[in-house]
Amino acid sequence: MSDNAAELMALCKRRGFIYPSFEIYGGVAGMYDYGPLGCILKNNIVEAWRHIYKGREGFIEIDSETVNPRDVFKASGHLDNFSDLITYCTKCQAPFRADHMVKEFIDNPDVLSPKELEEAFVKYGVKCPECGGELGPVDEFNLMFKTYIGPGSARIGYMRPETAQGIFVNYTNLYRYNRERLPLGVLQTGRSYRNEIAPRQGMIRMREFNQMEVELFVDPEDKDWARFKDIENESLDLIPNTTLQLTTMTVKEAVEKGVIANRVLAYFVYTTKQLLTTLGIDPKRLRFREHEKDEMAHYAADCWDAEVLLSYGWTEIVGIADRGSWDLSRHAQFSGQDMTHFKKYDVPKEVEMDKVKAKNKALGPRFKGKAKDVAAAIESSKPEDVKDGKLVVIVDGESIELDGESFEVVHVKEKIAGDRVIPHVIEPSHGLDRIFYSVLEHAYDHDDKEDYTVLHLAPVVAPIKVGVFPLMEKDGLDDVAKQIYDDIHRSNAEAYYDGSGTIGKRYARMDEIGTPWCITVDYETVEDGPNRGTVTIRDRDSKEQKRIKIDDVKNIIDRLLSGSDFATI
Ligand code: AMP
Repeated sequence: MSDNAAELMALCKRRGFIYPSFEIYGGVAGMYDYGPLGCILKNNIVEAWRHIYKGREGFIEIDSETVNPRDVFKASGHLDNFSDLITYCTKCQAPFRADHMVKEFIDNPDVLSPKELEEAFVKYGVKCPECGGELGPVDEFNLMFKTYIGPGSARIGYMRPETAQGIFVNYTNLYRYNRERLPLGVLQTGRSYRNEIAPRQGMIRMREFNQMEVELFVDPEDKDWARFKDIENESLDLIPNTTLQLTTMTVKEAVEKGVIANRVLAYFVYTTKQLLTTLGIDPKRLRFREHEKDEMAHYAADCWDAEVLLSYGWTEIVGIADRGSWDLSRHAQFSGQDMTHFKKYDVPKEVEMDKVKAKNKALGPRFKGKAKDVAAAIESSKPEDVKDGKLVVIVDGESIELDGESFEVVHVKEKIAGDRVIPHVIEPSHGLDRIFYSVLEHAYDHDDKEDYTVLHLAPVVAPIKVGVFPLMEKDGLDDVAKQIYDDIHRSNAEAYYDGSGTIGKRYARMDEIGTPWCITVDYETVEDGPNRGTVTIRDRDSKEQKRIKIDDVKNIIDRLLSGSDFATI
């Protein structure tokens, strides 16, 4: 951890943003608890995300289970593909992420195979950082936490490694809810779990973390977005995988030059920039890097990472992927359910075609209560699925082989009103904890000479919006301050009453946690004279102070929170 990160983590612990989990028992790497201020800041980030995706885009939100049966991850590919490469020290047995061991020597080492990594250990003389021992062979390590659903070992389950699957397995419900229309945008925030091999980067690599994911289901032939024109002239800093060079261009240019695959993906890359900068991420320390072909996740057709510059180096905090039809086609295949969208033609078409038909009479006696599901699975098969007179269907996760007694291929002439297509998925996947940490690091400002810390948090995320102080806790000043505190709270802005210590100390306490404004009630507030009924309001960043009427406090705070400059109030 760099000095900056260590100082910030110390502040986070001291002021109640973040606590290392289970500290009284020595702690567990990669696990953190959110403290009182951390909870508010985290919730404020979630609300800003909802404001864009639910508010502006009109997407819907769900909340699904975190423990999932094995079938879900067999279908999604996580069981077979979701692993990192691990190596153990042959002397002290400490585990390491193999690609991280050669980071100093090779750019993007996560594209290397186990064999190439073993060769790199030899070539660059990489040894165990703990004891200097030789590193052992490189193997795959699946990152999912395994568990059991119910007593005994009857049913294997896994903690979800991403919230996305909960949305995919609910596709038919959500599609129906959306009155069978596309685009269908669904969001979910919640915990995800990855048994990271050796988490050493604070909140960047956690074993239990929070995501805010958006799954947007679109027509594969219509990857456009109505609001694209509103943002097409905005600029993005991009590193395409074709050149690996940083280039700045407009969103429109990025699509026209084929840098970003389509308009809908480009729109959400820019939306990510909008969200992150609203949260206070410095745009000069933000860029979008396209995954290299062999770095792409098993499901991704194209993927861009929002990377921010932190004391840890450039770090991915959001991934925006075009997942193609991977997820829905896999879940359709493994569950036997229809996960398509019905795309209506303008005019119905008459077509001749071959179709697979169930022989219902034969299915009843053989499959009893399951016969209807088997028939549905047969009729959603295509003639080309029939191999050597046999057809395999999956019903309730069971694979059933059928012969000509149960089905036939018939030639039919039909009028069809439309086509069934598997929607494609565009996914902006946000790492909430990484965004939380990045917001803090970009806001952190420590003056070494004065030994004074200010968190320049954007008001929208600041956990406390207004500090309210009586100059002295007597002579009625405290009563006025408490009244102002109550009024601000009633209008739903988080306020903090502080009556102890010098005013300078109270300002310093508020600056250190990023409170944008402080209000002080002094003797002029209560004594006869031109300033009776007024208080001072101080701006955190400019340190400027103004006298305002108590009656105007609520209105002025509202204006400041909606973006008015302090100088204009
Ligand atoms: P991924 O599915 O790997 O693209 O992850 C989506 C987002 O989740 C990333 O952009 C990260 O911000 C976040 N994330 C992934 N792994 C972790 C982790 N171990 N700890 C904290 N955040 C993570």
